[in-house]
Amino acid sequence: MSSPEPTPDDRLALFVDLTGQEVLVVGGGPVGTRRARTLLAAGAKVTVVTPRATQELHQLAQDGRLQLVQREFAPADLASMWLVHIATGDRALDAQIASMAQDAHVWAVQASDHKASRAWIPAMSSSIDGIQIAVTASGDPTRAGRLRDEIAELIVEGSLIKPRTRRSPSGGKVWLVGAGPGDPDLMAVRARRVLRSADVVLSDQLIPAAILDELAPEVEIIGVGKRPGDHAMPQEQINALMLLHAAAGKRVVRLKGGDPLVFGRGGEEALECIAAGIPVEVVPGVTSAIAVPAAAGIPVTHRGVANAFLVISGHLGWSSLQGQLGDFDPSRTVVVLMGMRVLGEIAAGMIACGYPPQTPVGVVSQGWTRAQQAVVGTLESIAAEVARLGVGSPAVIVVGEVAGLRARLGELGRASADADHPGAS
Ligand code: SAH
Repeated sequence: MSSPEPTPDDRLALFVDLTGQEVLVVGGGPVGTRRARTLLAAGAKVTVVTPRATQELHQLAQDGRLQLVQREFAPADLASMWLVHIATGDRALDAQIASMAQDAHVWAVQASDHKASRAWIPAMSSSIDGIQIAVTASGDPTRAGRLRDEIAELIVEGSLIKPRTRRSPSGGKVWLVGAGPGDPDLMAVRARRVLRSADVVLSDQLIPAAILDELAPEVEIIGVGKRPGDHAMPQEQINALMLLHAAAGKRVVRLKGGDPLVFGRGGEEALECIAAGIPVEVVPGVTSAIAVPAAAGIPVTHRGVANAFLVISGHLGWSSLQGQLGDFDPSRTVVVLMGMRVLGEIAAGMIACGYPPQTPVGVVSQGWTRAQQAVVGTLESIAAEVARLGVGSPAVIVVGEVAGLRARLGELGRASADADHPGAS
């Protein structure tokens, strides 16, 4: 035959049944780990050869799910394999192993070189209404994944093809995870563990950048929070995406600043999951309402000063707060989140409803990051002080005698070296 040289776009799409078939993964980094998971899900008998393996691979080996061989690749490893997935992190070595696989008649996926690779695993969905989607995009997994999701969404919505059966979730799950107040090392160990095994992360904005940076390259990160000059994704769309991915069998992490159930709409999202029959779990986070004042030496309760605290949201302005505050109570601290835009209005309103104008007020912005800034004034002076010093959002406002303790306690918390909000200016 004298057809032109075939390109990767001429590849034949072939769905193979790997149940019980021997498959080798060379390389135990994040890519190898995720592929091992994919291959296990496809029913393959997986062996991973790697000098260094991720914790997850060790765990899978310990659980007897796969065989982990801790050393460099050797040609004999290919014997009896049907397929090898090569991701050593070294392109030259990948190519060398791929060529040995070719000689040994073993199909090889060469993760680092789409063009040279003899086999390729597309971005796939699990079966939606009996339909399985597989997309490739010249070796660009992000692009392929996005298109797969768009198509899947149209199918789930029923706008592409008439639904045949009711969609049923297939192993997917949602975790509502708190990222804490701003410093990556203030996140729960469980939150880190859940994140490490996520397929998709739907992330709010106030998430420490370092947390997303350390995710494996194949984890799909979708930013759904508000960015400066941009709009947040509407809640219905966030819900739809979350359910879509979970219904397609994905492990979805909904990552939120602070604690997911404190002004984070976590409860609503949990209800959505329950209504759709998708398992949902919460991983609590350190809330900024308590931790951010603490960093600046303001305890929300303190014996003899305050024995209760009220956390409210200022985003709707003073009129919505008036009813919530009740009578002035000197032993109760009032913590206001999302209140910077209306700080002056809130302070004046509190004075008007009986709070002494000299009541101490602390404002702490960008808590637990290296850009943290704190100022203490009074209900009367705070708005002007904040404007003078240029203290901006995000910030926690603390009204009550406890704010005065900062003078004695000073800075009580220190941001670690990689604590920075993305987009914080
Ligand atoms: N669920 C979050 C709160 C979401 S509301 C939690 O539990 O912390 C968002 C508000 O939280 C911001 O407007 C701000 O008031 C506060 N906030 C969050 N992170 C902050 C930080 N690092 N420094 C100061 N305020 C913060």
